[in-house]
Amino acid sequence: MTHPQKTDNLRFRRLIFMAIFIVLLSGCASSASEIPDTTPTTASTSAPTTAPTAPPLPITENLLPEDLSDPREEAITHIVIHFISAVTNHRENPFDAGLIRQIFLDAEISSHYLIARDGEIIRLVPEDRVAWHAGPGSWAGDEQYTNKMNRYAVGVELMGIGTRQEMSQYLSAEEYDRLDPTDIGFTDEQYQSLARLIADIRARHPGVLFDRAHILGHDEYNLSKPDPGELFDWERIMDDNLR
Ligand SMILES: [Zn+2]
Repeated sequence: MTHPQKTDNLRFRRLIFMAIFIVLLSGCASSASEIPDTTPTTASTSAPTTAPTAPPLPITENLLPEDLSDPREEAITHIVIHFISAVTNHRENPFDAGLIRQIFLDAEISSHYLIARDGEIIRLVPEDRVAWHAGPGSWAGDEQYTNKMNRYAVGVELMGIGTRQEMSQYLSAEEYDRLDPTDIGFTDEQYQSLARLIADIRARHPGVLFDRAHILGHDEYNLSKPDPGELFDWERIMDDNLR
């Protein structure tokens, strides 16, 4: 029984030796392949192997005064979605960007982005500053976020009007019923721009995971808030194809 075992040991040692030899050889081969190839390449061999990158997201700059935001200290991990309009005082012209800008100035609030009805994305506050949009609230029972979501979040405002119930603190039922129905809810262009904006934010801030724990509505953070409300279709921005 001992003799075959010795032979096996010998074979095993030979195998190890060969394995080391092969590894050394392949190591040499890989270093050799790292020597730059100076021979001219044809167009076919130098074709790019990666997919073409998407064009940069068009964003209109219209920054609010810096005293409506704070320096950012924490990493960005959340996106809070809102709606806003000037409908309370301007029922005929609820989505005028200048009137909406005035709301931020008068109320001393701010948000990073405003998405117009035609999908235009307007930057109000740079992401490296903390905007004042989420206010008091709580999230996932985590005290870190209690009344402090702004520190971790990018705020995105969609120009929009909610349901009669959601708007009842701003409009009487009669006033609501006289609104242009096409002004209620959100447009396809807004959903498309929001999806692109979320992808853009996530590419820069990987801590913003693609789930509803990190992408939330103001009405979920603060239950007394109406926005973005029932008319906002979360499935249109949380689609796996947009991941
Ligand atoms: Zn809000």
